[in-house]
Amino acid sequence: MTITYDPVDPAYTDEPDVRRELARTHEVCHGCRRCVGLCGVFPTLFDMLDSMAEPAADLLTPAQQDQVVDACVHCTLCAVGCPNEHGATGASDGGVDVPRLMLRARAMQFEHGHLGATGRMAARVLARPDKVGRVATKVPALANRVVSVSNGSRVRGVLERFTGASSVRRLGTFATERFSDWFADRPTIRLQRRQAAVTLFPTCIVEYQATSIGKDLVKVYERNGIECSVSAARCCGAPLLHSGDIEAFAEVAEENMARLAAEIRAGTDIVVPQPACAHVLTVDSIEYVTSEQARRDAELVAERTFDAAGYLMTLHRGDHYVLDTDFEGAVPQRITYQASSLIRARGDGFPGRDLMRLTGARIDVVHEPTGIGGIWSMRAGGDVGDAITQRLAEQLDAAPGEVVVSDSHLASLAIGEHAGVVPQHPLQVIARAYGIPEET
Ligand code: SF4
Ligand code: SF4
Repeated sequence: MTITYDPVDPAYTDEPDVRRELARTHEVCHGCRRCVGLCGVFPTLFDMLDSMAEPAADLLTPAQQDQVVDACVHCTLCAVGCPNEHGATGASDGGVDVPRLMLRARAMQFEHGHLGATGRMAARVLARPDKVGRVATKVPALANRVVSVSNGSRVRGVLERFTGASSVRRLGTFATERFSDWFADRPTIRLQRRQAAVTLFPTCIVEYQATSIGKDLVKVYERNGIECSVSAARCCGAPLLHSGDIEAFAEVAEENMARLAAEIRAGTDIVVPQPACAHVLTVDSIEYVTSEQARRDAELVAERTFDAAGYLMTLHRGDHYVLDTDFEGAVPQRITYQASSLIRARGDGFPGRDLMRLTGARIDVVHEPTGIGGIWSMRAGGDVGDAITQRLAEQLDAAPGEVVVSDSHLASLAIGEHAGVVPQHPLQVIARAYGIPEET
């Protein structure tokens, strides 16, 4: 057995090798059980083991192992404070690294054809949201009629067959104008006092679907003297990585790292409004690019890339910057903030919460996970975390906040499916607090 997280190691996708490592890791987790409430992976695993006469992870079948892997939404939370974590080198010290092993197991499943027919279709279509988004935003009325048909209907079944997108999950609708087109068509904005410059990596979600998040972000940044441009980089590749297509992901990552690094070298920082995409750009890309130049670019990108609220708070806390705290618009008295697992896992606080606190609102943080990760969670069969989303929705419905906020648009969609509220993005709350009207 080889304990490796190096995607170019020939053992990385070797099936017997990966399965032995899954069994070893699952046995360690079985003895620990600390992560049982974090996601669907651990309850699935422990239920299987508890139902055995003599619980032993090496007796789980490949199908059972795959069921455990399928429940992972790649939030990385289980690595935080894991008492059995590998040393920094990932060396064979008897420790575990569940998030990286899950990515390795996905790559093994992909290479050995274990995705099944709809999984393969999802890897070909759903995992390429930039291609889907380009087509859908050319015919938004038609695209939206199809994705808005009731969950579980025949039409959604056909859509699932041809795209791999879940027929039982609510899907996001498409914008009539792409975010980058809106940005390009705006009149030139003269900033009152230029304090910084950023390149916005819009993410496929903001580029094709939730464009209002990007519009509010730009207006909030410009009000604060931050000049904005839009990145030439394309989809971060998260769904390719999560589907296990690591060859396609590495190709996308190499191109994106070169483009983003060039934008940084031209004098801007990179800002990303969705946590899953930010994580892929700053953490995963570095591990999957192969050339030396791409690795250097990826290190620079990791250093100079920020989430949307995080960038404003970093400037605000510095010595040379003044954030506008004149909130003359609509400020809720109390906000319920759903803390993204990826932001929790970073361990450096909640910049979205801290930013909204500047408005004077009281913020209650809900730590319950969403049960949903990136776009790959929208695949057929990707609704394994539904019970978790339901639990979160119940908490949010009972929470006292007038407004619910989440950094992740996909999480907001899933929450909206189960709860009476659809969360907003922190930058949308700030825009309304400044009195900036919503532009759809
Ligand atoms: S990932 Fe670490 S902390 Fe979580 S159950 Fe496994 S061994 Fe325990
Ligand atoms: S990465 Fe997140 S979803 Fe995956 S096993 Fe760890 S806690 Fe669960």
